[in-house]
Amino acid sequence: MFDKILIANRGEIALRILRAAKELGIATVAVHSTADADAMHVRLADESVCIGPPAARDSYLNIPSIIAACEITGADAVHPGYGFLSENARFAEVLAHHEIGFIGPKAEHIRIMGDKIEAKRTAKRLGIPCVPGSEGGVEDPVEARRIAAEIGYPVLVKAASGGGGRGMKVARTEADLEEALGMARQEAKAAFGDDAVYLEKYLEKPRHIEVQVLGDGQGNAVHLAERDCSLQRRHQKVWEEGGSPVIDEATRAEIGGICARAMQELKYLGAGTVEFLYEDGRFYFIEMNTRIQVEHPVTEMITGIDLVNEQIRVAAGLPLSVTQDEIKVSGHAIECRINAEHPATFRPSPGLITYFHPPGGLGVRVDSAVFQGYRIPPHYDSLIGKLIVHGRTRNECLMRLRRALDEFVVDGVDTTLPLFRTLVRNADVLNGAYDIHWLENFLAAGGLDEP
Ligand code: ADP
Repeated sequence: MFDKILIANRGEIALRILRAAKELGIATVAVHSTADADAMHVRLADESVCIGPPAARDSYLNIPSIIAACEITGADAVHPGYGFLSENARFAEVLAHHEIGFIGPKAEHIRIMGDKIEAKRTAKRLGIPCVPGSEGGVEDPVEARRIAAEIGYPVLVKAASGGGGRGMKVARTEADLEEALGMARQEAKAAFGDDAVYLEKYLEKPRHIEVQVLGDGQGNAVHLAERDCSLQRRHQKVWEEGGSPVIDEATRAEIGGICARAMQELKYLGAGTVEFLYEDGRFYFIEMNTRIQVEHPVTEMITGIDLVNEQIRVAAGLPLSVTQDEIKVSGHAIECRINAEHPATFRPSPGLITYFHPPGGLGVRVDSAVFQGYRIPPHYDSLIGKLIVHGRTRNECLMRLRRALDEFVVDGVDTTLPLFRTLVRNADVLNGAYDIHWLENFLAAGGLDEP
């Protein structure tokens, strides 16, 4: 097992990793930018190192500074959290070169899944159902027209290096295709420096359902059921729940089994998420994330398994602590991402938190790194905490969530709490009757202004 882990991240996920390390008796090193000198993760770690100025590219993304921090403190492994360097294959390789452990997948798997065309090709080979589309990149408009006619309109042009929903254009008819192709390519070039694009059938009303997997890197892998993350705004997840309101046990075992077997064949190491769109009872792979995800606590609440603990174990060469048979889903969990943003316009609202009172009680978990008197810096994303609630049934979970949201007080900055207080009382949300477009439509119709 590792003796000392350096956490190459900030905010709530840095705290989350710190907690798992402490429970394993492992010493912790926090790194921070000058803007985060007083942050909670710095206060709670055994040691801390300042790695640069506020801009992430000069601090949390600065590989030489992070390696130097490992060498100064004698850390023998790095946990990258999510975002920042978590899906950077080169970072994993540089760490290996310095004989420092990387608490994440093998570099080759990060690389495959980071290229969407390669990821889809691999998924297909491993028997994971994919969205019908082009076999690889598409350049020529004539070829694009032929493929689009084959899969049927509407089609979606997607960037091979895409992320965050950028570089995606819908073509409803053949007349739109050439323009969509040009626009997606231009946007992809500007955002990712790579204009490779591919085609997929555009699904009109899918849900976003993802399967959590864990692998030991030697060919043993398990699934930990699904999360439904269909409530999104601008392709950003807002509310996540597990299990999905539309997935029964047999379906869960089937899609979970497909993912677990694929990870066994790949000899996947660590935690990962296989993401699908789900429409008319069918799953369509869209991508795989090779890291711990923001919404991982949903899975922890319904399975009782500490995913970060498992990540650390397998990175150190130990086996998973559970077998597939031992993994049981119990009850229902919902996570709300609390952002320091205006609830209707989503304008970021950094600044001083003048009052902070998180909810408590049975089945209520708050993962947050903020506190009363904390000043949210303007340099990073606006997530200030996650409220995760568990209940024996979805209904109990919803009632508990309503109560917990009403208890939660954050003063001094705008937060998305009012949005969740509205959602938890909405009939469609209560009925689980939503797809990936529901929240956008709800907000566009002025849903938040209703009493
Ligand atoms: P990114 O890496 O940019 O997040 P994804 O492939 O994960 O790209 O897609 C992001 C979101 O875009 C999905 O959650 C879904 O809302 C939408 N999307 C992606 N592919 C399709 C598709 N074939 N049909 C309809 N919507 C899609």
